[in-house]
Amino acid sequence: PTPDPVAGAAVKAADRAHVFHSWSAQGLIDPLAVAGADGAYFWDYDGNRYLDFSCQLVNTNIGHQHPKVVAAIQEQAGKLCTIAPGFAVDVRSEAARLIAERTPGDLDKIFFTNGGAEAVENAVRMARLHTGRPKVLSAYRSYHGATSTAINLTGDPRRWPSDSASAGVVHFWAPFLYRSPFHAENEAQECERALRHLEDTIAFEGPQTIAAIVLETIPGTAGIMVPPPGYLPGVREICDRYGIVFVLDEVMAGFGRTGRWFAAEHFDVVPDLLTFAKGVNSGYVPLGGVAISAEIAATFDQRPYPGGLTYSGHPLACASAVATINTMAEEGIVENAAAIGENVIGPGLREIAERHPSVGEVRGTGVFWALDLVKNKETREPLVPYNASGPANQPMADFAAACKRGGLWPFVNMNRTHVVPPCTVTETEAKEGLAVLDEALSAADAHTG
Ligand code: PLP
Repeated sequence: PTPDPVAGAAVKAADRAHVFHSWSAQGLIDPLAVAGADGAYFWDYDGNRYLDFSCQLVNTNIGHQHPKVVAAIQEQAGKLCTIAPGFAVDVRSEAARLIAERTPGDLDKIFFTNGGAEAVENAVRMARLHTGRPKVLSAYRSYHGATSTAINLTGDPRRWPSDSASAGVVHFWAPFLYRSPFHAENEAQECERALRHLEDTIAFEGPQTIAAIVLETIPGTAGIMVPPPGYLPGVREICDRYGIVFVLDEVMAGFGRTGRWFAAEHFDVVPDLLTFAKGVNSGYVPLGGVAISAEIAATFDQRPYPGGLTYSGHPLACASAVATINTMAEEGIVENAAAIGENVIGPGLREIAERHPSVGEVRGTGVFWALDLVKNKETREPLVPYNASGPANQPMADFAAACKRGGLWPFVNMNRTHVVPPCTVTETEAKEGLAVLDEALSAADAHTG
């Protein structure tokens, strides 16, 4: 792409004039003006190209501008741009079929939303109506979206300003051996104690008051903590025993991210409801949804489901989902994510960790990895304090700036950087990104001691 800094400056000025940005103090931000994107890269107007190791917000699983998905959207736009959710329409039915074919167990009915938070909202609504119970349990160290119920379920500081005592949400600790809430020494212990803690929480809250337990299959933004093998089957068993609906949030982990279509497959577990968004169509058009078990779907056979959205199952979104899923299947993109994770990213990150005093732990699978950065490998003290901002966050800011100078766009959250490239990433691209990361980590090392 030919650099055009004048155009870039105009784009930025127009943004600053009228665009109000998410999660930001409007006067303190300086958004990069983006000129274009392709595959694993995007670029600005100044001639800088970035390898996208963040997949934007971990959503471009198929990479930027995949020609088959772009063509499907163009074709659908020429046929039928929009139609209300009450009608039957070919692309919506086909998207639902392709998703239901891939979700685990009997999750065969699909309710479409515009994104992840709405999927979580509707899953909770379904669980409350199905059980007639008010409360919902979710984990600390989680993210479920920014609408009312979803932000209350969230277990990170973004919940605090929107917290509502009437939301009926109770938080508990899920397993995370590296920073064990249970002072466990091994995975088996962590798993057993985490399940006991969940049972205790349920007992003290009153099982008859709990509609659902909502968990990310592998927590994403909160740190990519792959649970011990027995944990999710254990939660499934607890839910069955108390008649609690088990909701797995696969908004980030789903559609190839972990090297499987859904992360639940790694643990051989079938939830009652599964939420998805992001990778379902890589965000080319906003789309999310809830995959619903036969039993919960049956609750609404004779009784109306009291929820809906003007754009539920939007044709452009569904056409892009159909093209995305078919292309991922035809091109072996999920298999690529698994192989690159196992053969390139995993080993590469573990090697990097050995060289850098700031890398405390490497964890992940597929194209879903986290580096837990620390001040000291022995004490595991995080490189920056929890929820740090301003000068306290300087070590992470230095690291992120070093990545960008090297042509890599990183995903950074608190004291972690996540390695979340597209599922289509090639070995060459992955190695290019790891090399930049390796160099940029020197900026984090400078704050260890
Ligand atoms: N659930 C999980 C696990 C997520 O990672 C996210 C977004 O990052 C959401 C829900 C919310 O999705 P959205 O931003 O599309 O509303």
